[in-house]
Amino acid sequence: MLRAIGPRADARRPPRAQTVTAVTYSAGMSPTQPAVIGALSPSRAGDFMTCPLLYRFRVVDRLPEPPSPAAVRGTVVHAVLERLYDLPAPARTAAAALALLEPQWHRLLAEEPGYGDMFADERERAVWLGGARSMLERYFTLEDPTLLEPAERELYVEAVLDNGLMLRGYIDRVDVAPTGEVRVVDYKTGSAPGAAFEARALFQMKFYALALWRLRGSVPRLLQLMYLGGEGEVLRYTPDEADLRATERKVRALWSAIERALETGEWHPRPSRLCGWCNHRSLCPEFGGTPPPLPARQPGDTVRSTRSPGHPRG
Ligand code: SF4
Repeated sequence: MLRAIGPRADARRPPRAQTVTAVTYSAGMSPTQPAVIGALSPSRAGDFMTCPLLYRFRVVDRLPEPPSPAAVRGTVVHAVLERLYDLPAPARTAAAALALLEPQWHRLLAEEPGYGDMFADERERAVWLGGARSMLERYFTLEDPTLLEPAERELYVEAVLDNGLMLRGYIDRVDVAPTGEVRVVDYKTGSAPGAAFEARALFQMKFYALALWRLRGSVPRLLQLMYLGGEGEVLRYTPDEADLRATERKVRALWSAIERALETGEWHPRPSRLCGWCNHRSLCPEFGGTPPPLPARQPGDTVRSTRSPGHPRG
């Protein structure tokens, strides 16, 4: 299923080192890059929008979180799709992708042995891996990888705005057409969101598009979200400069709110149905808990990465 999202709809690890490309050149930026005052990824920006206290627990307190089977499955599926494109185009078949699944799971398990504790027994692990298999099979109903030659995979981007805020993150895939037009692709292992959550899903893509625009000086032609859960669905959006300027204003406003909270120490809980997935309910005042004392602030608090080897992703 394919769905295009127009402007109106919007209104309402380190992974394998050899494939991570840090794009830090500054085409389109001031030659004198400002000092970095903080860093924001789409995930952490999303945390703050969801609940400022959740952001605090993750970024300021850096509280550990147990891996979730769904997120680790996302990591395995992403790893398979990344490596699928190492193969020559005619060899990128569904069978080839499925053959990569077990080896990638074992590679991740070697990096993070704790993932093995997610399953009560072998049967549970087999069901979990079967879910990953279904997602990969669904991927082949959405596009034909034998017809594609991605320009970049697992692209790490960092772009520093003129206020010193660094935008950073990993882009799953960047395709460049012979005409030079750029498509930014992100794989999601969940189901496509309903209309109410489309804007949030698109925020991440616009965030990446903004970073690429600031780095390379041209607006990506297309943002493409590929949902491998549910029925399988592709959401496409064509951004323009006005979109990305609006995204930059939103990111700056978010950062101002984060800076205020860092200064005042006031991190307000914002309960929602997402609390059901929050690992820190026992520390949250909304659930009768008490947050730990705030750690002393360190320079570069928010610049340190919260992504670890094999960091789960959705
Ligand atoms: S339980 Fe809910 S309100 Fe409390 S920190 Fe987690 S997400 Fe925020």
